Amino acid sequence: MNPLSPDAQRRFAVDVVRTLRQAGHETYWAGGCVRDRLLGRTPADFDVATGATPDEVRRVFGHRRTLAIGAAFGVITVLGPPGAGPVEVATFRQDATYSDGRHPDHVTFSSAREDALRRDFTINGLFFDPLTDEVIDFVEGQADLAAGVIRAIGRPELRFEEDRLRMLRAVRFAATFGFELEEQTEAAIRQMAVGVTAVSAERIAGEIERMLALPARAQAVRLLLKTGLAEAVLPEIVDADVPTRPSRPSSLEVLDRIEEPTFALALAVLLGETAGPEAMAGVCCRWRLPNKVLERAVWLVGHRHALRDAMTCRWSALQPLLVSPGIGELLQWVEAEAAVAGQPAPEVDHCRTLLMQPAEKLDPPPLITGDDLVRHGLVPGPLFRRLLDEVRTAQLDSKIETSEEALTLVDRLCAEWDEGLGAGG
Ligand code: ATP
Ligand code: MG
Repeated sequence: MNPLSPDAQRRFAVDVVRTLRQAGHETYWAGGCVRDRLLGRTPADFDVATGATPDEVRRVFGHRRTLAIGAAFGVITVLGPPGAGPVEVATFRQDATYSDGRHPDHVTFSSAREDALRRDFTINGLFFDPLTDEVIDFVEGQADLAAGVIRAIGRPELRFEEDRLRMLRAVRFAATFGFELEEQTEAAIRQMAVGVTAVSAERIAGEIERMLALPARAQAVRLLLKTGLAEAVLPEIVDADVPTRPSRPSSLEVLDRIEEPTFALALAVLLGETAGPEAMAGVCCRWRLPNKVLERAVWLVGHRHALRDAMTCRWSALQPLLVSPGIGELLQWVEAEAAVAGQPAPEVDHCRTLLMQPAEKLDPPPLITGDDLVRHGLVPGPLFRRLLDEVRTAQLDSKIETSEEALTLVDRLCAEWDEGLGAGG
């Protein structure tokens, strides 16, 4: 894959508009890219809206340079030169009824004005003509951009009833841009928040994941709490903004302090204070998150206090934590917690120093394996794990250094355990 160049992307998005315009079709940039440009942000991608039908778009650019995956919704993907990425070209449309509160039942091609009116928020309903530098504004989106307001286009209750995901999008956009929710838009969300669960778990999780990745993630969570959306989608965090004890920071303050938390870490921080690993696993299952995210989040919650004795505990106790794949996130968490509480975190520095050791010191290969035990004449069974663990502990604590010493330890342990068994039975 070619890395995208914002410049090449923009130039290609201008070309697409010019080409369609020359073929006689009214065509603009639309939606997020217009909003981002007006805010002085670099758009992640460019969407184009046009009066041309999907067939006409394909004819203009040729079948080889286009994909018709979204054609049923009037969207044709036009492939760009290297570094430019694709541009989605959507025919101006009107969305018909949403009988399931999620997907339009069918779409009708229509005018630019109607295409603006079907969009979710005024700041997302703008068109831009890159050939004349003109903004085409049917929804008073420019005023709301200037005022910093997220306002539903049309009657908010109706728009949220059509598609309940929009309630979460409203919160995400408000946090992303540091905007306010317009009064009636916010009132409608509060009133309809419980209904957000009609949206698929994957899409809810996707929105929450994006919110928790924002620099203003704490703001996003506060808005979720304030609007009642949190209670509907993540009731486990209703107390995230409240310190468990007066002198302690809230989990939200801690979350805010972490730079670029992974989704697993963000969830762990939000839930860790009030809920345990089971609740964490419950959330991950509810949202059908990948196993990797579930495992990491559960591990983090389960080990949130595990570094407390890092300065004093034996190496065999600390080492397995340090070589765990989640250690980086765990350190970020502990560090943020200390920082918010205004306390030093010597255990974090200690671990970071230890982690700089070369791999063969940090995680030396085991002195013996199960195969060695078999060759030593032992029969595989549940005892193997215990023996190997004991040997590993002795190795890490420098009590033994060679495989011969390891096998001697094995013999001694077997004798002891036999005796123990004999004495007990
Ligand atoms: P970003 O991609 O940065 O999240 P965006 O505005 O580009 O923001 P997309 O989800 O990519 O958001 O959608 C592109 C445009 O399509 C939006 O700007 C909006 O006009 C419209 N849109 C997207 N989702 C909806 C929706 N659920 N209801 C109504 N309009 C929508
Ligand atoms: Mg987008």
